[in-house]
Amino acid sequence: MRGTGDLAVSAPELEDIIDCIDCGGRCHLMVTWAPDNPPYPGDVVVYRCEDCLDRWDIVVIDPDETDGSGDGLRF
Ligand SMILES: [Zn+2]
Repeated sequence: MRGTGDLAVSAPELEDIIDCIDCGGRCHLMVTWAPDNPPYPGDVVVYRCEDCLDRWDIVVIDPDETDGSGDGLRF
C-alpha cells in the first residue's frame, strides 16, 4: 500500500484490505474479478469497514495518468 490517506489505487496494487479513513479499522474488498479481467482505470471497487461498516468506493486510477495530487476519491 502506498502512503496513507490515498484512496486512488492502480489495479495491480489493489489490496484485499485497506485502512478505514474514518476509524482506522480494516476495510475489506467487496468485489472480485477474473484474473484475466481486472478492474480498469476509472472503475470503482467497493470496500466495507468491519468496524464502522462504512462503505468506500475506490476509483481505480491509471498509473500512467497520475498528476501527483493523489485525489482519486469520488462518491
Ligand atoms: Zn471504519
